Amino acid sequence: MNLTELVKLSNDYGSNEDYVLAGGGNTSLKDDSEMYIKGSGTTLATITADGFVGMDRAKLNAMMTADYPQGDKEREAASLADMMAARLPGFEDKRPSVETTLHNLFPFRLILHVHPALVNGLTCGQDGEKIAAELLPGEHVWIPLSRPGYVLSLLCREKLSEYKAAQGKEAQILLLQNHGIFIAADTREEIDALMEHVMERLRSRLGRTPDFSAASCDAGKAESLKRELAALYSPNGKADLLCNQEILSLVASRHAFSPLSAAFTPDHIVYCKAEFLYTESPELMDVKFKEFTDKTGYAPKVVCVKGFGAFILGDTDKDVSTSKMLFLDAVKIAVYSESFGGPLHMTPELIDFIANWEMEAYRQKVNKE
Ligand SMILES: [Zn+2]
Repeated sequence: MNLTELVKLSNDYGSNEDYVLAGGGNTSLKDDSEMYIKGSGTTLATITADGFVGMDRAKLNAMMTADYPQGDKEREAASLADMMAARLPGFEDKRPSVETTLHNLFPFRLILHVHPALVNGLTCGQDGEKIAAELLPGEHVWIPLSRPGYVLSLLCREKLSEYKAAQGKEAQILLLQNHGIFIAADTREEIDALMEHVMERLRSRLGRTPDFSAASCDAGKAESLKRELAALYSPNGKADLLCNQEILSLVASRHAFSPLSAAFTPDHIVYCKAEFLYTESPELMDVKFKEFTDKTGYAPKVVCVKGFGAFILGDTDKDVSTSKMLFLDAVKIAVYSESFGGPLHMTPELIDFIANWEMEAYRQKVNKE
């Protein structure tokens, strides 16, 4: 299969931060028998034909009616084994995207799956489902909060067939609560037109946009907090400070911080951990840091301090810069969600599931390399 069109679609959307951050999002191209999908751990902005994994569609189709075990771990392991067995010969050393079975559901050639902050302002909004029905009447399928992987594919399969029965056509826009969007079409032109249509409808409803204008804090104190936090994070830890008007307002009090009190989407957990540390007492940083680590079982990636902003921590500069992007994404979603009924986080149960999910751990590990 010629992948030129797929590579171009991936690079174009992947290099636009309004659509894709870090290793997020994925794309695919298919015919009746084969599908080429982004490999796990690759990045859309820079992906080449080598980054895609060839899949046998008949085997992926069979997975949707397979009889898997009931338990989470057992079912995920069994479906993962089948997904690996569905790779075409010559692709045995590559791992397909975690969303492969979902891509395979759409009877369209090209699929674009992204997690844009604006779209997630809607999917992470209390009234997201209701407002989506007003903005895109009869044009989309809404997928309620779900576990990722195979279970999500089953749910989408059911909702896509309900849509087809009701509308007499195949769905091309799929909105996933606390996650992102799928666009399906046979041509690149149609993908672009559908994506822009959704963005335009969302912008038409937007009240406030984030205020990322410059803000200042005590630079000397900020430097010493950076050094302290880097050392607390790990022996070779790195730290950076994000400070702008929006972030300063969010860290002004524990109440103001509540939009960031839990994760919006799986990406935030993967790159910034499930929870951020918030404190109004930077002079007690070592104590607060230890309390957080004891409670959660991990060191914070993001430490928000009243009057300063958000300190982003990591093992390498790349690690810090990726987490910075995803933290800013969470801030944007928090603000955009105001236009869609106010912030709606993932449930603690789902956050726990993602934090422990083997495939996400793999994605994060590859992206760090
Ligand atoms: Zn996704």
